[in-house]
Amino acid sequence: MDAEARGRAPGTAARPAADAAPTGSPAAALLREVPVGDSAVPRLELAEWAERYGVVAGVTTRGRGFSLGLWSDDHVGQLMTRWRALRAAFQPAFPALVLAHQVHGTAVAWQRQATDGWLILDGVDGHATGTAGLLLTITVADCIPVYLVAPHKGVVALLHAGWRGAAGHILERGVALLKSAAFVRACDIVMHCGVGICGACYEVGSEVITALGDAAAAAGAPPAGPTQLDLRTVLVRQAQALGLTTVSVSPWCSAHDRTQFFSHRASGGRDGRMVAYLGLPLA
Ligand SMILES: [Zn+2]
Repeated sequence: MDAEARGRAPGTAARPAADAAPTGSPAAALLREVPVGDSAVPRLELAEWAERYGVVAGVTTRGRGFSLGLWSDDHVGQLMTRWRALRAAFQPAFPALVLAHQVHGTAVAWQRQATDGWLILDGVDGHATGTAGLLLTITVADCIPVYLVAPHKGVVALLHAGWRGAAGHILERGVALLKSAAFVRACDIVMHCGVGICGACYEVGSEVITALGDAAAAAGAPPAGPTQLDLRTVLVRQAQALGLTTVSVSPWCSAHDRTQFFSHRASGGRDGRMVAYLGLPLA
């Protein structure tokens, strides 16, 4: 069975304390996404990033069944109505939006959308841009959305990181792309690991730990047998190894907080999808 589809019973794990760092997490600040007062598109955002870096970074929630999974069995008309609401919510700051059919791979694409509209790509799990007005989006439901911004350099990247993406070093690919495209150093890049599944809710087989190598071993994972994996801890360790010094993690767990979020694992694969987004708004 697919390791990402193999579930544990939802709600059986202890809920982490509200402001405690995730189990086994190395030093990373906790940064909480906060609700945006918009009834049309239920979502949470990093208010601190807006204030400090001038970027729009957030994630939709499952409020009123607000699923945005295009590659799903959802009713097409309702799905497109929700997507239109999402696009409308980000006007006029973001006349363009990019999305891709994700494959748990490591491809990160540099986006230079010059025209308004909605670009849908295939086989890409991360996007980066220096173009204001282009909103980068990925779909998530347990996998970690990784937000990268190089303040003062005007570039951002958004990565979809489940265990396969983490094992394939999608973070390294995203950081390398920002470094080469915008001449930034690793220490110029700020990273946030957003809403996703926590270690207590995510049991994986030993093959996953093996695939993740040092980053999972360093997180305290035992070498054999089913074990709990904290993806955000793995990503923080990878970030530190890459030289990133300003790293934060969300306290939200998609599986613990089922009233707020969709969780592939906790729903046995039946849940919808949220959209994580990041962009440089037009002035
Ligand atoms: Zn959890």
